[in-house]
Parts: sequence; structure tokens; C-alpha cells
Amino acid sequence: MARSLTLAFAPDLDLTRDALASSTLNHGLMVLGESWVMSVMMGAFTGVTRFEEWQTRLGIPRPTLADRLKTLVELGLMRQRPYQERPRRMGYHLTRAGLKLYPHVLMVWVWERRWGERQAHLPDKLLHAPCGHSFVPTLTCAACGEKTGINDLQLSLKVNKILLDKAALTGRTARLGSANATRMGLGLRVDRWSLMIVTAVVLGCHHFDALVHVLGIASSVLARRLSSMVDAGLLLNQPDLQDARRSVYRLTPASRDLFGYLVCFSTWAAGEYLHQPSSIRPVHKACGNPFVPQASCSACGDALKPWDVSFQGLNRPSH
Ligand SMILES: [Zn+2]
Ligand SMILES: [Zn+2]
Repeated sequence: MARSLTLAFAPDLDLTRDALASSTLNHGLMVLGESWVMSVMMGAFTGVTRFEEWQTRLGIPRPTLADRLKTLVELGLMRQRPYQERPRRMGYHLTRAGLKLYPHVLMVWVWERRWGERQAHLPDKLLHAPCGHSFVPTLTCAACGEKTGINDLQLSLKVNKILLDKAALTGRTARLGSANATRMGLGLRVDRWSLMIVTAVVLGCHHFDALVHVLGIASSVLARRLSSMVDAGLLLNQPDLQDARRSVYRLTPASRDLFGYLVCFSTWAAGEYLHQPSSIRPVHKACGNPFVPQASCSACGDALKPWDVSFQGLNRPSH
């Protein structure tokens, strides 16, 4: 079980470091990894259009909410439109580009339902109109339609030079190395840093010194982050059976479950935002195709479209 996560191979650390820096995950998180962004998007997908609604439902501080909506508009993921009934007031709506984050948002929902601590803001049940069933979003391979888990993929690394240069320009180390990294609003326990660390572990970096090398951050900062992730149930720290002086970091069921989130977000960032291939390239072992994630209905197996899904158990604020 989980064989690919417990491989004893030693990863090429320089390659892994450059692949992480030039991954679409890293670059995507630089723009959408701020606190609350995904909560705002999640709200939009459940029908929130008004500033006050987001504020009441999520309790986001006003200036933060204003800033996040501004960012989402600038990125072209939302646009402002006057209300029909009150033309002087503006509402926020998802654009066509914003709607493409749907599989990712569904993976956030899945993870939050299972492991998160903020379930109050999420719908209890999702209903799929075409088949009429309540469902859980399932990650499948767009090429063959099979349900896909992390162990079904073969990951290969190919550094993207353009994104690597861009990472150097944007001060990757400074941004990612910040000790007061912001939370993403994906649960209370997961932020941009945690996702990068989880990815490094997925790529075979299990020792502290390997993680320092590939993440390029100060060891004191990393030590603090790792211990808080262990406390939060996102990592296990176990004795290394091969070397009694060292310990190894391993994923937990909760962090392994972030895989759907990571792969959907990386794919979105590659195709819709950066227009660059990611340096981390998954292939679906079963069918041999490059893995393109798809969120499917657990009841009927069809790919999920935002307009086909409705919600139950979500307290819609009154209009
Ligand atoms: Zn496949
Ligand atoms: Zn269905």
C-alpha cells in the first residue's frame, strides 16, 4: 500500500528543487495562495454574489475581502456586474475562466468535508441534476475515465526554464521563506507552505536536510513549519530504520488526500493561468496517458459541470 510514497530511492535534489520552483503549483499559489482566496471562490460557486454575503457567511475582515475580490477581478476570474433589481449596487460573478477552477473547488470541498475544521461554510450535500443523485466529487482520469488516486500516477520531473527564471525574478525564496506565511482558507491547517512541503515529500524528500535543500528555506523556519504540520496531523515524523541518527517525514491520510487538490490546481494553473507545462508531470499508469484530472459524479461517473450541481444544507443568506 502507498508504495510510491514510501520508496527508498534518493531523489535528485537539485532537479527536485528546480522542479518545485518551476512547478505551476508554486506559481499558481503565488497568486491564488493568499488567505481566504479559495473561500471566496467557494462562496462564488455556491451562489454568493454580494460583498455582504461573503462577509456574513465567512467572517472575512472587510479590507481583506475587498482586496481578494479585487485580485480575482484582476486575474479575470470574476467580474463585477450591476444587480438587475438595484442597478447602483455591484455584484461579483464568476467568469468563464473562473468557472474552470470548478474541479479544484470541488476537491477543496472534498478535503474540507473530510479533514477540515470549517465545515459550517460548506454545503452538506451536493446534488447532480443529470442523474438526480447526491454525490461526492471523485477524481478521475480525463483520458480513460477511471477513478485515480495518488498511487495510480507516475510522476516525472522536467524543469520548466521559463518558470524557473520567473521564480528567481519574483524572489521565490523570499516569498516562500516568509515565516508568517499566510493561510489559504483551505481548512485552518493548510496554507501555501504546507502544500509545497507535502509536494516535496510526495517527490521523495523525507529527510530534513533534503527538504531544506529542495525548498530553499532557512532550516529554523522549516523546522517550525514541519513541527506545526506534525501537530496538525499533516505529517508523521518517524525514526529512520536505516539510520538511527535521523528521522523521516511521511504523509498522513489527511495530507495524502490533498493530492486531488494539488493536481487539479496545478493543471488549472498550467492551462489557464501560466500557459506553461508544469515541471511535475503525472502519467496515469493504467492508461499511459498524461494525467489530466477531472472531477466526476460518484453516482453516475459523468464529469461535473458547475451548472449541473446544486447544494443542500447551506444556509443561504436572505436577499
Ligand atoms: Zn487514464
Ligand atoms: Zn451524477
